[in-house]
Amino acid sequence: MEWMERAECVREDPELFFPVGTTGPALRDLQEAKAVCRRCPVAQQCLDLALSSGQTAGIWGGTSESERAPLLRAARRRERYHARFR
Ligand code: SF4
Repeated sequence: MEWMERAECVREDPELFFPVGTTGPALRDLQEAKAVCRRCPVAQQCLDLALSSGQTAGIWGGTSESERAPLLRAARRRERYHARFR
């Protein structure tokens, strides 16, 4: 995927985008990762990929796991709905 070459996070430590826990250093990593995503020119493509591939872990497209959970549920509902009419 060509757009991945323009991802802002390619110059960052990948672990920053997979914080363990929700307090202390993990919260700091989460905020730092989201700041990187805000500068990213391909954040929408990243979020779309996370939703279409069901990514539940890590920061994708500027969203945390808890922020993405309802988006993933909605994406699955849409997928089931469209599957009924294929
Ligand atoms: S939006 Fe996605 S591709 Fe862009 S910096 Fe964040 S995690 Fe990386």
